[in-house]
Amino acid sequence: MKIVVLKFGGTSVGTIDKIKKVGDIIKTYVRKNYKVIVVSSAMRGVTNDLVKKSNQISQNFSEEEYDVLVSSGEQVACSLIAGRLINNGIKSRSWLAWQIPILTIGHHKNSRINLIKKNAILKYLKNGGVPVIAGFQGINDKERITTIGRGGSDATAIILAKFFKAQRCVIYTDVEGVYTTDPNKLKKAKKIKVISYEEMLEMASLGAKVMQPVSIQDARLNRINIEVKSSFVNKSGTLITKRSNILSNKIVTGITSTHNDAKVTLIGVKDKPGVAASIFKPLSRNSINVDMVVQNISSNGKETDLTFTIKNEDLNKTKKIIKENKSINFRKLLFNKGVSKISIIGVGMITTPGVTFRMFQSLAKKRINIQVISTSEIKISVLIDKKNTKKALNALHKEFKLDS
Ligand code: ASP
Ligand code: MG
Repeated sequence: MKIVVLKFGGTSVGTIDKIKKVGDIIKTYVRKNYKVIVVSSAMRGVTNDLVKKSNQISQNFSEEEYDVLVSSGEQVACSLIAGRLINNGIKSRSWLAWQIPILTIGHHKNSRINLIKKNAILKYLKNGGVPVIAGFQGINDKERITTIGRGGSDATAIILAKFFKAQRCVIYTDVEGVYTTDPNKLKKAKKIKVISYEEMLEMASLGAKVMQPVSIQDARLNRINIEVKSSFVNKSGTLITKRSNILSNKIVTGITSTHNDAKVTLIGVKDKPGVAASIFKPLSRNSINVDMVVQNISSNGKETDLTFTIKNEDLNKTKKIIKENKSINFRKLLFNKGVSKISIIGVGMITTPGVTFRMFQSLAKKRINIQVISTSEIKISVLIDKKNTKKALNALHKEFKLDS
Protein backbone atom coordinates (compact mmCIF):
# COMPACT_ATOMS: atom_id res chain seq x y z
CA MET A 1 0.00 0.00 0.00
CA LYS A 2 1.19 3.46 -0.94
CA ILE A 3 0.47 5.37 2.28
CA VAL A 4 0.92 9.11 2.85
CA VAL A 5 0.44 10.95 6.15
CA LEU A 6 -0.72 14.55 5.72
CA LYS A 7 -0.60 16.81 8.76
CA PHE A 8 -2.36 20.17 8.85
CA GLY A 9 -1.36 22.83 11.37
CA GLY A 10 -3.60 25.30 13.17
CA THR A 11 -3.35 28.07 10.58
CA SER A 12 -4.00 25.64 7.73
CA VAL A 13 -7.35 24.77 9.34
CA GLY A 14 -7.81 28.27 10.80
CA THR A 15 -11.07 29.13 9.02
CA ILE A 16 -13.87 27.33 7.20
CA ASP A 17 -12.47 28.50 3.86
CA LYS A 18 -9.04 27.17 4.72
CA ILE A 19 -10.53 23.81 5.72
CA LYS A 20 -12.22 23.66 2.32
CA LYS A 21 -8.81 24.24 0.75
CA VAL A 22 -7.41 21.40 2.88
CA GLY A 23 -10.15 19.20 1.44
CA ASP A 24 -8.87 20.03 -2.06
CA ILE A 25 -5.28 19.22 -1.12
CA ILE A 26 -6.31 15.82 0.28
CA LYS A 27 -8.20 15.11 -2.92
CA THR A 28 -5.05 15.53 -5.04
CA TYR A 29 -3.39 12.67 -3.11
CA VAL A 30 -6.48 10.47 -3.35
CA ARG A 31 -6.45 11.01 -7.12
CA LYS A 32 -2.83 9.86 -7.24
CA ASN A 33 -3.97 6.62 -5.62
CA TYR A 34 -2.35 7.26 -2.29
CA LYS A 35 -3.95 5.79 0.82
CA VAL A 36 -4.20 9.01 2.82
CA ILE A 37 -4.02 9.35 6.60
CA VAL A 38 -4.86 12.89 7.72
CA VAL A 39 -3.75 14.38 11.05
CA SER A 40 -5.04 17.72 12.19
CA SER A 41 -4.19 20.25 14.84
CA ALA A 42 -6.86 22.49 16.38
CA MET A 43 -8.09 25.57 14.53
CA ARG A 44 -5.71 28.47 15.06
CA GLY A 45 -5.87 30.03 18.53
CA VAL A 46 -8.27 27.46 19.95
CA THR A 47 -5.74 25.59 22.09
CA ASN A 48 -4.34 28.82 23.53
CA ASP A 49 -7.84 29.89 24.38
CA LEU A 50 -8.54 26.61 26.18
CA VAL A 51 -5.31 26.92 28.17
CA LYS A 52 -6.41 30.41 29.19
CA LYS A 53 -9.76 29.10 30.35
CA SER A 54 -8.10 26.42 32.46
CA ASN A 55 -6.14 29.13 34.27
CA GLN A 56 -9.27 31.17 34.82
CA ILE A 57 -11.21 28.32 36.37
CA SER A 58 -8.38 27.37 38.72
CA GLN A 59 -4.81 28.42 39.31
CA ASN A 60 -4.21 24.81 40.16
CA PHE A 61 -6.15 23.14 37.38
CA SER A 62 -6.04 19.35 37.50
CA GLU A 63 -3.60 17.93 34.95
CA GLU A 64 -5.99 15.15 33.98
CA GLU A 65 -8.71 17.68 33.23
CA TYR A 66 -6.24 19.95 31.47
CA ASP A 67 -5.59 17.21 28.93
CA VAL A 68 -9.30 16.57 28.39
CA LEU A 69 -9.88 20.27 27.89
CA VAL A 70 -6.99 21.30 25.65
CA SER A 71 -7.24 18.24 23.40
CA SER A 72 -10.80 19.15 22.46
CA GLY A 73 -9.83 21.63 19.73
CA GLU A 74 -8.56 18.80 17.52
CA GLN A 75 -11.95 17.07 17.64
CA VAL A 76 -13.62 20.09 16.05
CA ALA A 77 -11.04 20.41 13.27
CA CYS A 78 -11.08 16.69 12.44
CA SER A 79 -14.84 16.44 12.13
CA LEU A 80 -14.93 19.53 9.90
CA ILE A 81 -12.27 18.09 7.59
CA ALA A 82 -13.99 14.69 7.42
CA GLY A 83 -17.31 16.43 6.83
CA ARG A 84 -15.84 18.40 3.95
CA LEU A 85 -14.35 15.28 2.36
CA ILE A 86 -17.70 13.49 2.62
CA ASN A 87 -19.32 16.53 1.00
CA ASN A 88 -16.83 16.16 -1.86
CA GLY A 89 -17.70 12.53 -2.41
CA ILE A 90 -14.70 11.04 -0.59
CA LYS A 91 -15.27 8.33 2.00
CA SER A 92 -14.01 9.68 5.31
CA ARG A 93 -14.45 9.70 9.07
CA SER A 94 -12.78 11.28 12.09
CA TRP A 95 -10.88 9.33 14.74
CA LEU A 96 -10.08 10.54 18.24
CA ALA A 97 -7.01 9.04 19.90
CA TRP A 98 -8.98 6.84 22.33
CA GLN A 99 -10.95 5.30 19.47
CA ILE A 100 -7.85 3.98 17.70
CA PRO A 101 -6.30 3.86 20.33
CA ILE A 102 -3.08 5.87 20.42
CA LEU A 103 -1.37 4.78 23.63
CA THR A 104 0.93 7.10 25.53
CA ILE A 105 3.32 6.84 28.45
CA GLY A 106 4.61 9.51 30.83
CA HIS A 107 3.06 12.47 32.60
CA HIS A 108 -0.05 14.32 31.70
CA LYS A 109 0.51 17.43 29.54
CA ASN A 110 3.72 15.92 28.27
CA SER A 111 3.17 12.28 27.39
CA ARG A 112 4.82 10.34 24.59
CA ILE A 113 3.18 8.05 22.07
CA ASN A 114 4.49 4.51 22.40
CA LEU A 115 1.95 2.44 20.49
CA ILE A 116 -0.68 2.92 17.83
CA LYS A 117 -3.15 0.07 17.26
CA LYS A 118 -3.37 -0.23 13.51
CA ASN A 119 -6.18 -2.65 12.73
CA ALA A 120 -9.19 -0.39 12.39
CA ILE A 121 -7.36 2.26 10.40
CA LEU A 122 -5.72 -0.27 8.09
CA LYS A 123 -9.05 -1.86 7.32
CA TYR A 124 -10.57 1.52 6.63
CA LEU A 125 -7.71 2.48 4.30
CA LYS A 126 -8.07 -0.80 2.41
CA ASN A 127 -11.74 -0.05 1.93
CA GLY A 128 -10.89 3.27 0.32
CA GLY A 129 -11.58 5.56 3.28
CA VAL A 130 -9.63 8.60 4.44
CA PRO A 131 -9.20 8.54 8.24
CA VAL A 132 -8.86 11.99 9.81
CA ILE A 133 -7.01 11.60 13.10
CA ALA A 134 -6.82 14.06 15.98
CA GLY A 135 -3.23 15.07 16.62
CA PHE A 136 -1.72 15.99 19.98
CA GLN A 137 -3.78 13.50 22.03
CA GLY A 138 -3.59 9.95 23.35
CA ILE A 139 -4.74 7.79 26.22
CA ASN A 140 -2.72 6.24 29.02
CA ASP A 141 -2.95 2.85 30.72
CA LYS A 142 -5.62 4.23 33.05
CA GLU A 143 -7.69 5.12 29.99
CA ARG A 144 -7.37 8.80 30.76
CA ILE A 145 -6.95 11.31 27.94
CA THR A 146 -3.40 12.62 27.60
CA THR A 147 -1.64 15.26 25.50
CA ILE A 148 1.89 15.12 24.19
CA GLY A 149 3.15 18.70 24.60
CA ARG A 150 2.29 21.89 22.76
CA GLY A 151 2.74 21.61 19.03
CA GLY A 152 2.41 17.85 19.44
CA SER A 153 0.39 17.03 16.34
CA ASP A 154 3.67 17.07 14.39
CA ALA A 155 4.80 14.16 16.55
CA THR A 156 1.46 12.38 16.06
CA ALA A 157 1.98 12.58 12.29
CA ILE A 158 5.53 11.27 12.45
CA ILE A 159 4.70 8.37 14.73
CA LEU A 160 1.76 7.47 12.49
CA ALA A 161 4.12 7.50 9.50
CA LYS A 162 6.38 5.14 11.42
CA PHE A 163 3.69 2.65 12.47
CA PHE A 164 2.00 2.58 9.07
CA LYS A 165 5.34 2.57 7.18
CA ALA A 166 4.16 5.55 5.14
CA GLN A 167 6.01 6.43 1.95
CA ARG A 168 5.65 10.11 2.64
CA CYS A 169 4.92 12.38 5.58
CA VAL A 170 3.93 15.90 4.65
CA ILE A 171 3.61 18.68 7.21
CA TYR A 172 1.33 21.41 5.85
CA THR A 173 1.76 24.77 7.52
CA ASP A 174 1.49 28.51 6.90
CA VAL A 175 5.04 29.01 5.61
CA GLU A 176 6.53 27.62 2.41
CA GLY A 177 9.20 25.66 4.20
CA VAL A 178 12.31 26.14 6.29
CA TYR A 179 14.31 29.29 5.54
CA THR A 180 18.02 30.09 5.78
CA THR A 181 17.00 32.60 8.42
CA ASP A 182 13.74 34.11 9.66
CA PRO A 183 12.27 35.91 6.59
CA ASN A 184 10.52 38.33 8.94
CA LYS A 185 13.92 39.50 10.16
CA LEU A 186 15.84 39.31 6.89
CA LYS A 187 14.02 39.76 3.60
CA LYS A 188 16.66 38.01 1.51
CA ALA A 189 16.24 34.74 3.44
CA LYS A 190 15.95 31.79 1.06
CA LYS A 191 13.89 28.63 1.24
CA ILE A 192 16.07 25.60 1.99
CA LYS A 193 15.42 22.66 -0.36
CA VAL A 194 16.86 19.91 1.85
CA ILE A 195 18.10 19.96 5.40
CA SER A 196 19.36 17.20 7.69
CA TYR A 197 17.53 16.14 10.87
CA GLU A 198 20.45 17.37 12.96
CA GLU A 199 20.46 20.81 11.40
CA MET A 200 16.68 21.09 11.61
CA LEU A 201 16.79 20.06 15.26
CA GLU A 202 19.27 22.83 16.03
CA MET A 203 17.24 25.38 14.07
CA ALA A 204 13.99 24.38 15.75
CA SER A 205 15.55 24.45 19.21
CA LEU A 206 16.92 27.89 18.41
CA GLY A 207 13.55 29.29 17.55
CA ALA A 208 12.74 28.41 13.94
CA LYS A 209 9.10 27.69 14.69
CA VAL A 210 8.38 25.47 11.71
CA MET A 211 8.23 22.19 13.60
CA GLN A 212 8.20 20.94 17.16
CA PRO A 213 11.76 19.80 18.11
CA VAL A 214 10.64 16.51 19.73
CA SER A 215 8.94 15.47 16.50
CA ILE A 216 12.13 16.05 14.49
CA GLN A 217 13.99 13.84 16.92
CA ASP A 218 11.31 11.15 16.42
CA ALA A 219 11.71 11.45 12.66
CA ARG A 220 15.50 11.19 12.94
CA LEU A 221 15.38 8.08 15.09
CA ASN A 222 12.94 6.40 12.73
CA ARG A 223 14.51 7.72 9.50
CA ILE A 224 11.27 9.26 8.28
CA ASN A 225 11.56 11.84 5.52
CA ILE A 226 9.48 14.92 6.23
CA GLU A 227 8.27 17.39 3.66
CA VAL A 228 7.31 20.80 5.06
CA LYS A 229 5.18 22.94 2.78
CA SER A 230 2.48 25.58 2.66
CA SER A 231 -1.21 24.72 2.43
CA PHE A 232 -1.87 28.13 0.85
CA VAL A 233 0.41 28.07 -2.18
CA ASN A 234 1.18 25.11 -4.38
CA LYS A 235 4.99 25.17 -4.30
CA SER A 236 7.63 22.68 -3.30
CA GLY A 237 8.74 23.03 0.31
CA THR A 238 11.66 21.77 2.37
CA LEU A 239 12.68 18.12 2.73
CA ILE A 240 14.05 17.06 6.11
CA THR A 241 16.10 13.90 5.73
CA LYS A 242 19.27 12.06 6.71
CA ARG A 243 22.65 13.60 5.96
CA SER A 244 23.73 10.99 3.46
CA ASN A 245 20.82 11.99 1.20
CA ILE A 246 22.09 15.53 0.93
CA LEU A 247 24.50 16.83 -1.66
CA SER A 248 25.42 20.36 -0.78
CA ASN A 249 28.48 22.53 -1.05
CA LYS A 250 27.28 24.95 1.59
CA ILE A 251 29.14 25.11 4.88
CA VAL A 252 26.32 26.80 6.72
CA THR A 253 22.71 25.79 6.13
CA GLY A 254 20.91 28.26 8.34
CA ILE A 255 21.28 31.15 10.76
CA THR A 256 19.08 31.81 13.76
CA SER A 257 18.69 34.62 16.24
CA THR A 258 16.95 34.80 19.58
CA HIS A 259 15.24 37.80 21.11
CA ASN A 260 14.37 36.65 24.61
CA ASP A 261 17.70 35.85 26.21
CA ALA A 262 19.12 37.57 29.26
CA LYS A 263 22.73 37.74 30.37
CA VAL A 264 23.70 37.38 34.02
CA THR A 265 27.20 38.22 35.30
CA LEU A 266 28.62 37.59 38.74
CA ILE A 267 31.65 39.78 39.35
CA GLY A 268 34.31 38.74 41.81
CA VAL A 269 33.40 35.12 42.45
CA LYS A 270 35.89 33.07 44.50
CA ASP A 271 38.09 31.09 42.13
CA LYS A 272 38.06 27.66 43.76
CA PRO A 273 36.61 24.23 42.99
CA GLY A 274 32.89 23.78 43.41
CA VAL A 275 31.88 27.40 43.00
CA ALA A 276 30.25 27.01 39.59
CA ALA A 277 28.37 23.97 40.86
CA SER A 278 27.08 25.95 43.87
CA ILE A 279 25.80 28.65 41.55
CA PHE A 280 24.07 26.37 39.05
CA LYS A 281 22.68 23.71 41.38
CA PRO A 282 19.80 25.79 42.79
CA LEU A 283 19.03 27.08 39.29
CA SER A 284 18.63 23.61 37.88
CA ARG A 285 16.56 22.58 40.92
CA ASN A 286 14.19 25.37 39.96
CA SER A 287 14.08 24.24 36.34
CA ILE A 288 15.91 27.29 35.08
CA ASN A 289 17.64 26.44 31.87
CA VAL A 290 21.14 27.87 31.67
CA ASP A 291 22.31 28.16 28.09
CA MET A 292 25.70 29.75 27.40
CA VAL A 293 28.34 29.93 30.12
CA VAL A 294 31.68 31.71 30.20
CA GLN A 295 34.14 32.12 33.03
CA ASN A 296 36.99 34.57 32.77
CA ILE A 297 40.48 33.57 33.78
CA SER A 298 41.24 35.25 37.08
CA SER A 299 44.11 37.69 36.97
CA ASN A 300 45.07 37.33 40.62
CA GLY A 301 44.22 33.65 41.05
CA LYS A 302 41.61 34.46 43.70
CA GLU A 303 38.63 35.93 41.94
CA THR A 304 36.90 35.44 38.63
CA ASP A 305 33.82 36.69 36.74
CA LEU A 306 31.14 34.27 35.63
CA THR A 307 28.63 35.04 32.88
CA PHE A 308 25.71 32.93 31.71
CA THR A 309 22.49 33.30 29.74
CA ILE A 310 18.92 32.30 30.58
CA LYS A 311 15.48 33.05 29.17
CA ASN A 312 14.13 36.53 29.96
CA GLU A 313 11.14 35.10 31.74
CA ASP A 314 13.43 33.36 34.26
CA LEU A 315 15.30 36.53 35.15
CA ASN A 316 13.44 37.54 38.30
CA LYS A 317 13.51 34.03 39.68
CA THR A 318 17.23 33.79 38.93
CA LYS A 319 18.00 37.10 40.66
CA LYS A 320 16.19 35.90 43.75
CA ILE A 321 17.89 32.50 43.81
CA ILE A 322 21.37 34.00 43.45
CA LYS A 323 20.79 36.63 46.11
CA GLU A 324 19.49 34.02 48.53
CA ASN A 325 22.30 31.57 47.80
CA LYS A 326 24.32 31.46 51.03
CA SER A 327 26.99 29.17 49.62
CA ILE A 328 28.47 31.68 47.16
CA ASN A 329 30.23 35.03 47.47
CA PHE A 330 30.53 37.70 44.81
CA ARG A 331 31.04 41.41 44.66
CA LYS A 332 28.47 42.45 42.12
CA LEU A 333 25.57 41.05 40.11
CA LEU A 334 24.81 42.39 36.60
CA PHE A 335 21.84 41.69 34.33
CA ASN A 336 21.23 42.52 30.72
CA LYS A 337 18.04 41.78 28.81
CA GLY A 338 19.20 43.45 25.63
CA VAL A 339 21.10 40.53 24.14
CA SER A 340 20.56 38.20 21.22
CA LYS A 341 22.11 34.83 20.46
CA ILE A 342 23.11 34.45 16.82
CA SER A 343 23.88 30.91 15.66
CA ILE A 344 25.20 29.53 12.41
CA ILE A 345 24.26 25.91 11.76
CA GLY A 346 25.57 23.44 9.23
CA VAL A 347 26.92 19.91 9.01
CA GLY A 348 29.45 21.29 6.52
CA MET A 349 31.34 22.79 9.46
CA ILE A 350 32.55 19.41 10.59
CA THR A 351 34.78 19.07 7.56
CA THR A 352 35.62 22.70 6.90
CA PRO A 353 38.32 24.49 8.89
CA GLY A 354 38.20 28.19 9.65
CA VAL A 355 34.44 28.63 10.01
CA THR A 356 34.73 30.17 13.46
CA PHE A 357 37.29 32.64 12.21
CA ARG A 358 35.11 33.66 9.29
CA MET A 359 32.15 34.21 11.57
CA PHE A 360 34.10 36.35 14.02
CA GLN A 361 35.81 38.30 11.29
CA SER A 362 32.63 39.23 9.49
CA LEU A 363 31.08 40.41 12.76
CA ALA A 364 34.22 42.36 13.59
CA LYS A 365 34.10 44.10 10.21
CA LYS A 366 30.65 45.37 11.15
CA ARG A 367 31.99 46.46 14.55
CA ILE A 368 29.77 44.00 16.38
CA ASN A 369 31.15 43.00 19.74
CA ILE A 370 30.93 39.33 20.77
CA GLN A 371 30.07 38.87 24.44
CA VAL A 372 29.85 35.09 24.85
CA ILE A 373 30.63 32.18 22.54
CA SER A 374 29.50 28.58 22.53
CA THR A 375 29.95 25.83 19.99
CA SER A 376 28.86 22.31 19.17
CA GLU A 377 29.79 20.01 16.33
CA ILE A 378 27.45 21.67 13.84
CA LYS A 379 26.76 25.04 15.42
CA ILE A 380 28.54 28.20 16.55
CA SER A 381 26.64 30.67 18.70
CA VAL A 382 27.61 34.15 19.78
CA LEU A 383 25.90 36.55 22.12
CA ILE A 384 25.68 40.13 20.89
CA ASP A 385 23.88 43.37 21.63
CA LYS A 386 20.29 42.92 20.52
CA LYS A 387 20.30 46.11 18.49
CA ASN A 388 22.86 44.56 16.13
CA THR A 389 20.77 41.47 15.35
CA LYS A 390 19.76 42.44 11.84
CA LYS A 391 23.23 43.67 10.92
CA ALA A 392 24.74 40.40 12.11
CA LEU A 393 22.22 38.23 10.25
CA ASN A 394 22.84 40.23 7.12
CA ALA A 395 26.63 39.96 7.33
CA LEU A 396 26.67 36.23 8.11
CA HIS A 397 24.07 35.40 5.47
CA LYS A 398 26.38 36.99 2.91
CA GLU A 399 29.63 35.58 4.31
CA PHE A 400 28.38 32.00 4.13
CA LYS A 401 26.89 32.43 0.65
CA LEU A 402 23.28 31.97 1.62
CA ASP A 403 22.21 35.02 -0.40
CA SER A 404 22.38 33.10 -3.64
N1 ASP B 1 -3.23 22.25 19.03
C1 ASP B 1 -2.07 21.87 19.77
C2 ASP B 1 -1.28 23.10 20.18
O1 ASP B 1 -1.65 24.20 19.85
C3 ASP B 1 -1.23 20.88 19.04
C4 ASP B 1 -0.56 21.40 17.79
O2 ASP B 1 -0.77 22.52 17.36
O3 ASP B 1 0.19 20.64 17.18
O4 ASP B 1 -0.31 22.97 20.86
MG1 MG C 1 0.17 24.08 16.09
